[in-house]
Amino acid sequence: MGTNPLDTLGRPLHDLRISVTDRCNFRCVYCMPKEVFGKDFQFLPRAEILTFEEIERLVRIFVSLGVRKIRLTGGEPLVRRDLERLVEKLASIGDLDLTLTTNGSLLAQKARPLAEAGLRRVTVSLDSLDDATFKRMNDSDFPVAKVLAGIEAARAAGLAPIKINMVTKRAVNESSIVPMARYFKGTGMTLRFIEFMDVGSTNGWRLDDVVPAREIVAMIDREMPLEPIQAGYRGEVAARYRYKDGTGEIGVISSVTQPFCADCTRARLSADGSLYTCLFATQGHDLRALLRSGATDDEITRAITAVWTERTDRYSDLRSEETAGLRKIEMSFIGG
Ligand code: SAM
Ligand code: SF4
Ligand code: SF4
Repeated sequence: MGTNPLDTLGRPLHDLRISVTDRCNFRCVYCMPKEVFGKDFQFLPRAEILTFEEIERLVRIFVSLGVRKIRLTGGEPLVRRDLERLVEKLASIGDLDLTLTTNGSLLAQKARPLAEAGLRRVTVSLDSLDDATFKRMNDSDFPVAKVLAGIEAARAAGLAPIKINMVTKRAVNESSIVPMARYFKGTGMTLRFIEFMDVGSTNGWRLDDVVPAREIVAMIDREMPLEPIQAGYRGEVAARYRYKDGTGEIGVISSVTQPFCADCTRARLSADGSLYTCLFATQGHDLRALLRSGATDDEITRAITAVWTERTDRYSDLRSEETAGLRKIEMSFIGG
């Protein structure tokens, strides 16, 4: 990363997560609870959402500042119409690790067009293999089998290596941890357990609902012995463990019990074009206004550089019951 122009801070800007929509067809209890994101919830009007051309322009600028990894997210990115057109534009920029996080519900039909447009791989969120537990987590009537079919379609389309994200919530899907590990062991897919986080301010987060990563590892290790392995690269958020019998690995993302802010190299762009330097930010920096007021690439570059070089974020290092109550941006808005 020596050539990164923003490498002076010890936290070079390397990853950009782009939320392409604030909408979603699921209502996960830890992300978009129905009581808040119900029928009357006002999502962003179309005119406020960045166009694909605006996103492409910004990505080119971010790439000139050292970004090498782009993840499309949301809301649910696959509900944004013609997403493959955006993928095609971003893939044409050059050698980028271009990926996407999805709830998998529309992946069976979208995997092939996305792969053909240049998407490299996908991460699919799946919180249980059991329909009733899955529904308790996402508050939607969607069969697990359809998500599994989406994962299969992604594999068949060559969107590999595939990662599976499972958020764990105490007493809700804790009992799915070991069955999920059994299911994905030996498939070449990496299952990553994510501690339930206090993103946003609507998901009723309590520390008691977090299943600590070390507990997850211990549960799996009892039946399928594990050993820790080295991080693949600096800033990798998942701690990695491999099965001692050589049948693959799992990851645990312990942003609550073992924060990793010192290595955080990630910026986030919301669907309406605000730049956030932390998942738990209370406020962003409006790049859309710059784009739409005729700013030059140089001016936008300077604005992004100023934001990144002045950042002091280390929310997870400082987390407490008090910080959990701050009015933070919602995960479905800022992108996970
Ligand atoms: N809709 C897509 C999905 O669910 O994969 C992409 C957006 S979602 C916000 C991105 C990731 O954030 C998902 O893996 C989701 O499980 C995770 N996530 C959402 N809310 C969370 C929370 N409160 N704690 C931990 N992870 C969360
Ligand atoms: Fe939708 Fe993803 Fe949030 Fe669940 S985690 S509500 S699928 S955006
Ligand atoms: Fe990065 Fe903020 Fe998460 Fe810390 S809390 S790792 S600064 S996004």
